[in-house]
Amino acid sequence: MNKAIIINETNREVNEAAWVELSDKFIKIIGEGNFNSWIKPLKFSSYSSAILNLKSPTRFIRDWVNSNYSEIIRNIFRDSFGNVAAINIVVDSQIAIAPASTDSQSSNQDVINFKPSAGNRDFSEIESILDPRFKFENFVVGNSNSFAYAAAKSVAESNEVIAGSNPLFIYGGVGLGKTHLMHAIAWKVKEQNPDRKILYLSAEKFMYKFIKSLQDKNIVSFKEYFRSVDVLLIDDIQFICGKNSTQEEFFHTFNALIENGKQLVLSADRSPSDMGEMEERIKSRLGWGLVADINSTSFELRLGILETKVKSFNLNVPKDVLEFLAENITSNIRELEGALNKIVAQSRLLREEISLDYAKRILKDLLKANQKNITIDQIKKLVSEQCAVKLGDINSPKRTQNIARARQLAMYFAKKYTNKSLPEIGKNFGGKDHTTVLHAVRKIEELKDTIPEIRENLEVITRLLEK
Ligand code: ADP
Ligand code: MG
Repeated sequence: MNKAIIINETNREVNEAAWVELSDKFIKIIGEGNFNSWIKPLKFSSYSSAILNLKSPTRFIRDWVNSNYSEIIRNIFRDSFGNVAAINIVVDSQIAIAPASTDSQSSNQDVINFKPSAGNRDFSEIESILDPRFKFENFVVGNSNSFAYAAAKSVAESNEVIAGSNPLFIYGGVGLGKTHLMHAIAWKVKEQNPDRKILYLSAEKFMYKFIKSLQDKNIVSFKEYFRSVDVLLIDDIQFICGKNSTQEEFFHTFNALIENGKQLVLSADRSPSDMGEMEERIKSRLGWGLVADINSTSFELRLGILETKVKSFNLNVPKDVLEFLAENITSNIRELEGALNKIVAQSRLLREEISLDYAKRILKDLLKANQKNITIDQIKKLVSEQCAVKLGDINSPKRTQNIARARQLAMYFAKKYTNKSLPEIGKNFGGKDHTTVLHAVRKIEELKDTIPEIRENLEVITRLLEK
């Protein structure tokens, strides 16, 4: 533990004990579950010149804290000790991870620590920490991920390798649940058969271990180590692309495991055939087993995930806020969860009730980042295709119902996705008045809740626009 004693402006000693004293304040604001998962594992390291240095047991926790809790840490810390200009969290795998509070399992079950054989000390630091929230029970299934979910579950539940399922290759965009499924597999395998040796690691870590073993002239142990596991899970293998010697080693490990009837689970942000610089023979080998993709989410799935989360943490968030989030943060579930956390945490901090207006205010910046550079012409084209009306009709003065609706939809999207003012949008639709645009936006907003067809059109077009 850190022995340094630092006196700050308030002349209070800031040390590990002082940091721990803040626990109650954190719990009050973010709740005990979040506290135990994210803040408790952090250790105080030092505080000087307004820089707060902390340690985290894993990269995962560090990243999560950086993106979700830095503001709260800053505020709470400032109230007791002084200003924080920056929070710097370094990963230190030596520090212990706190037990997950709500889990009935004991703390050391959170860590799958696969000890290498004796005399193989160089690898003793390889251990993998699984996120206790990433289990099958917490994974919400929808059309976009049901296949990957079923594939992952069947691999996890079988004590032997199922023919045709090795390797299991899960791919999909950022934040859509790949890591969640990988951890879920590891949890499940462990639960069913604690004797099976499981190793979960990122491709980056695999590379790092490999390069280090080359430097240390220890490649034999490296090979033995990886080849002695029963289930090897490597996350984000796109990072292995283009690194020739690592690729080669990966390929040998891969073959050795599969030949020996060991299960391999891989994830990537793209399909095997899209693995750019990877060698052809490796690419084709990746696709030999079961390939399962996770597609972009639907509104229902996003809402389902938010609702599950709200329920499990016993939060009080009105439905219209959840719908607003599910509608606007569409590209990535991690961001969706981050947004929810942000709203909840800030409302506790500022003691303000969560309402739709409140949520909109807080998320303004986030939403901006979610909106791409979309032009009115793109919008018109998509709308005309989706609503099956001629592109020319959208600009025309025609008032047939389906044309008028399509026009209103296009105006609604123009307002939502571009920075154009109402009069500018009007001008872009064959010289309509700004009140016509305003009316269109309001109309669509009203109808999307009552007419399923409009809601569906809205969703499809949103998805296409955000692609
Ligand atoms: P990826 O590895 O694909 O980038 P993650 O697995 O890290 O994405 O998922 C990002 C976040 O979204 C995690 O907190 C995860 O729990 C959550 N998440 C993703 N998909 C689902 C789902 N179907 N149900 C519940 N949570 C999900
Ligand atoms: Mg991931």
